[in-house]
Amino acid sequence: MTHRILVRGGHVVSMDDAVGDRPGCDILIEDDLIAAVEPGLDPAGADEVIDARDTVVLPGFVDTHRHLWMTVLRGTQADETLGGYQQTVQGSLPFAVQPQDVYAGTLLGAWEALNAGITTVLDYAHLNPTLEHAEAGIRALRETGIRALYAHGSVFGVRRPWGSPEQAEYVRELLRPRQDDRLLTFGIAFGAPYGESDWALAAELDVPATLHACVRSAGAWPASHTIEELNARGLLRAGTVYSHCTIATDAELKLIADSGGHVSVSPYVEMVMGHGRPVIARALAQGLLPSLGADVVSSGPGDMFSQMRAAFSQARAETVPDDPDAPYRPGLTARDVLRFATAGGAAACGLGDITGSLTPGKRADLVTVRTDQINTMPAGDPVGVVVANADVSTVDTVLVGGVARKRDGRLLADLPGLRDLARDAAARLHRHAGNSVAAHPGKG
Ligand SMILES: [Zn+2]
Repeated sequence: MTHRILVRGGHVVSMDDAVGDRPGCDILIEDDLIAAVEPGLDPAGADEVIDARDTVVLPGFVDTHRHLWMTVLRGTQADETLGGYQQTVQGSLPFAVQPQDVYAGTLLGAWEALNAGITTVLDYAHLNPTLEHAEAGIRALRETGIRALYAHGSVFGVRRPWGSPEQAEYVRELLRPRQDDRLLTFGIAFGAPYGESDWALAAELDVPATLHACVRSAGAWPASHTIEELNARGLLRAGTVYSHCTIATDAELKLIADSGGHVSVSPYVEMVMGHGRPVIARALAQGLLPSLGADVVSSGPGDMFSQMRAAFSQARAETVPDDPDAPYRPGLTARDVLRFATAGGAAACGLGDITGSLTPGKRADLVTVRTDQINTMPAGDPVGVVVANADVSTVDTVLVGGVARKRDGRLLADLPGLRDLARDAAARLHRHAGNSVAAHPGKG
């Protein structure tokens, strides 16, 4: 029997040009699909009515670059540079992290994302020395009910060297399409130096790939123009998500656009850790629709409001003329940034047909943001309020495929259980890896 939910009376910002923005509008959900976006729908046949008055109703946010397992390292690298991070975190951690730590980090990170209105995440799962680590991460994603592109990687190659035939067979087995996965899709997260076997495997399995590309990381590895090199080897492939690209040339960004690839920008982390300048403005100039990612909560915030504001302020600052008397005419708008965080992200994940906008026929992934709170009222321009003023505290209700993960401001998770999990994981990592990479267990 069809389950019907009516989301009533919100200010709908659909991010679909054909649907537009509709004040005082209803959304009818049938099972996991959006059936209608219209004012005045009849509530009589609805099994459940969600009162969305005094809220902006948005498509769920899509995070296109996030290492969920690293949630267990929250805040431990806030001052660190990328070069320093490579030495401290990647030096010892791959040998300390157990499958239960991957489970804990992924579960905590996915619930954190849902709490913030992120309904889809590209999980760049790059620590998987064993099958058990990967299965633990996938199990955690399933338990939270988030939509995810699980991009499997093992960039540290701890026990099973990346690129080896043994690794390839294991990835084949892991990523073999699974009929029962309603919310998960699968892809590959490449490790440097991007061997041809990686690309061949992604093509063979017909799954998307993602990689860190063109990043400044002085102290860890020399700068390289990865995209030019890949292009010279004929390896650029449609649907690939290139993360950061902070030192990519304009010609490299154009190569991504021309090959049907996508750019993922993690503006907060890139600026704080010294990856280089976020490429929002330059990517737009080359015809790319950027998407946004939190990357690592060991160094930065895990919500999309922070990413949107970092992206907006940095990209606008990039276009301020050097001449203080020259007029300032920024092209980028708050709505553009909201598009990066929704439709842009969905396109990058290869999920543009099913999420990223409130379009009849797409999955019912939606978020309501309260506009009657102290930091969001009065909401003269709802898009402006979402991008400039709203925060996680104003995220009221979050649906993924029509299923509530947050309702009336309350996350539908076992919070005491998550606290225990976080405390145990921090204690284990502290024991095995020491102060440099793990939170003190006493801090939970
Ligand atoms: Zn990353």
